[in-house]
Amino acid sequence: MAWIDLSAKVAVITGGGGGIGRGIALGLAAVDATVVVLDRDEGGAAVAAEIRARGGRAEFLACDVTSDDCVARAAGELAGNVGDAAILVNNAGTMLPGGLDTTSVADWDRILSLNLTGYLRCARVFGAPMLARGAGAIVHVASISASFPQSYSGAYSASKAGVVMLSRQLAVEWGPRGVRSNVVSPGMIRTPMTEAIYRTPRVHEARRTLVPVQRIGRPEDIADAVVFLASERASYITGEEFVVDGGFTRTLMGTIPRPGFEKD
Ligand code: NAD
Repeated sequence: MAWIDLSAKVAVITGGGGGIGRGIALGLAAVDATVVVLDRDEGGAAVAAEIRARGGRAEFLACDVTSDDCVARAAGELAGNVGDAAILVNNAGTMLPGGLDTTSVADWDRILSLNLTGYLRCARVFGAPMLARGAGAIVHVASISASFPQSYSGAYSASKAGVVMLSRQLAVEWGPRGVRSNVVSPGMIRTPMTEAIYRTPRVHEARRTLVPVQRIGRPEDIADAVVFLASERASYITGEEFVVDGGFTRTLMGTIPRPGFEKD
């Protein structure tokens, strides 16, 4: 038997049409889950089609996760079509630039309503049948910026820090009811969200050399951690955060000038 086998599970991935979401959708399909790609963008339909073309099971649901009605409708369609979700991956998120002295309250609220409240909304709606069944796994995609302030990025860091605590609270409240909740925090990953940055070779190289494993992350790196946490292999892990950043956030001590203790 395969080490991880999700063949009996329906898995919903929000933002599944984007870079990391697509990687997660393909990763879950590779261990035979029935994948539901939820995205407000039609790019999600292409990801579902790609999975079907590879012989997997996948559906696309057009949905804006900032809307109560939309998410409730999506969950209803799911129940009547492929069945209730056993796995939810909260991943749809974005960022807007701006310092804390200039970010408008409207922009602040916009980011929190997608990156944080959207995660709670989906956890409640897709988690309800998990609680009723007494079994389920939720994985939230946060960011290393949950722990390290990402300057001039408006509410982004605050929203991601909120996700980490939301997940811990869900783990404690829903653990006794059979539902686990964990976080995967990506470091620097090349996706449509960050593509513009990596197209400049100088910036790509400067970022790459900051990472101990000496490469920029790929969506598959995040997918592997998500698939593990969603699976029964992680049945005794809940309320945790897996940082997947090639070691980048462990490099602080190495930046201190320390004569006599440098690399030859
Ligand atoms: P992306 O822009 O490639 O994908 C995001 C997807 O979310 C898109 O398909 C978009 O259509 C969808 N989406 C946006 N708003 C939505 C809404 N209201 N309803 C439904 N879907 C919506 O971004 P990505 O880089 O793949 O990021 C995915 C997640 O990973 C985000 O939460 C992001 O904050 C996080 N993250 C990314 C990086 C990175 O370096 N790329 C690093 C850390 C964390």
